Amino acid sequence: MKILFATPECAPYVKTGGLGDVSAALPATLAGLGHDVRILLPAYQGMKVSGEVGDGLDLPASGPWPAAQLVPVRVEHGITLLLLACPGLYQRPGGPYVDAGGRDHPDNALRFGLLGRVAARLGTAQTPLPGWTADIVHANDWPCGMAPLYLAHERLAAPRDATAASVLTIHNLAFQGLFPLASADLLGVPRRWRGIDGVEYWGQLSMLKAGVQFADAITTVSPNYAREIQTPAHGAGFDGILRARAARLHGILNGIDTRLWDPQQDLLLPFRFGPGRMQGKAQCKATLQARMGLPAASGAMLFAVVSRLTAQKGIDLVLAALPRLAGTGAQLVVLGQGEPQLQQALQAAAQRHPQQVAVTLGFDEGLAHLVEAGADAFLMPSRFEPCGLNQMYSQAYGTPPIVAPVGGLLDSVIDVDADPARGTGFVMAGADAADLEDAIVRAARLWREPQRWRRLQANGMARPFGWQDSAQRYLEVYRLALQERGGSGPPR
Ligand code: ADP
Repeated sequence: MKILFATPECAPYVKTGGLGDVSAALPATLAGLGHDVRILLPAYQGMKVSGEVGDGLDLPASGPWPAAQLVPVRVEHGITLLLLACPGLYQRPGGPYVDAGGRDHPDNALRFGLLGRVAARLGTAQTPLPGWTADIVHANDWPCGMAPLYLAHERLAAPRDATAASVLTIHNLAFQGLFPLASADLLGVPRRWRGIDGVEYWGQLSMLKAGVQFADAITTVSPNYAREIQTPAHGAGFDGILRARAARLHGILNGIDTRLWDPQQDLLLPFRFGPGRMQGKAQCKATLQARMGLPAASGAMLFAVVSRLTAQKGIDLVLAALPRLAGTGAQLVVLGQGEPQLQQALQAAAQRHPQQVAVTLGFDEGLAHLVEAGADAFLMPSRFEPCGLNQMYSQAYGTPPIVAPVGGLLDSVIDVDADPARGTGFVMAGADAADLEDAIVRAARLWREPQRWRRLQANGMARPFGWQDSAQRYLEVYRLALQERGGSGPPR
């Protein structure tokens, strides 16, 4: 299959969260299975890409769309990156979505409208790549949400099979790509698709809704989240729209990139380890304690957080549970960045407990690996969690996770008290601070029983969290999308 994987971020070039990891690993796995995969990604400022660079293809200006170029770069694993170069839109300070001050780029509608439009064109006869038209346009999250709509529009004028089938993956329903409804003019949304059956969402235009309404298939990143987002409690306002498209909605658990996240081969670690040879993990713990300025006490249980610091991730619950955690004599390290109040509260906690709590604010890939390797247990009390990667990394690194009973966390962690033989972590009974405290106390108790703890670690380290199975599920969804292409959605 010829697959265009359209995404606003892709590790290691540009990453703000799990989508960046998925955008690297899933295409590489699909390519390894013999498919022709190209990744469409904006060329942001400061991005370093090495590989064999092909001739740039001109995309002339048209209507609201500025002139751009598509630059193919052949990178490792047989993957071609198609960098969407448009300096006026993408070469500027800040991240993919926000400026250096953390505010949305004011022209995001145009920036990501163009991404969606170019993705769609790569799935039609007007493809800018000579001799290459995608069979599947796989659009990721709201920044690519316009692609399915543009493909549906192309299909009105072409035979059904002449355009690619579209698949939308929702990595996080909380981000909906909302813009003034008047942006529909700029984005060229046909009039009859501007209402509630189309892109309109509470008086605004939602790029995510465009994707949900017009994609031939929709996936999200865990089976449990696929169920949750069809309920008012977790649907973020989209539950009705998603229920209406339930027949096209599939939950596929993310994998982890075992080329990068394997404690036996991880070059970012000072010491490596694996099942049956855990000495390196103890050495990683001592290194981590030293690096974070904590006493190098092997007898103090070390809990850890690596996370965006937002309400979603339940960081306030960690703060609330901290006195209890500290009361057990344990230590806590936190690596993250995000909301200023949470950053300040964590720093204040570190000042109150200098022997027990250490916080590093910032984004640091190398330190994230060391934390996963060096900690004894990992905290992830998320309020909602589409899939979550860190709880899988931590299991692979012999660091049992403590997780809230939501989303992909439920699909990927087996509670040790519910199933002592197969358990890999601790699932909180509910989603508040008392539930987190209870789980921390359960973990601290089990840690004092080395034999049972080693079994828990071994169970997690043995789980096959790679991408092979999930990549097969995506291929099944691609085939369904091709079969059913154009068969549903709003009135055309
Ligand atoms: P989300 O995508 O919601 O942020 P995930 O758990 O799915 O959460 O993925 C987060 C990814 O980002 C993981 O690879 C994690 O290691 C990484 N990450 C998050 N915060 C940091 C940080 N401060 N430094 C380094 N890596 C981080």
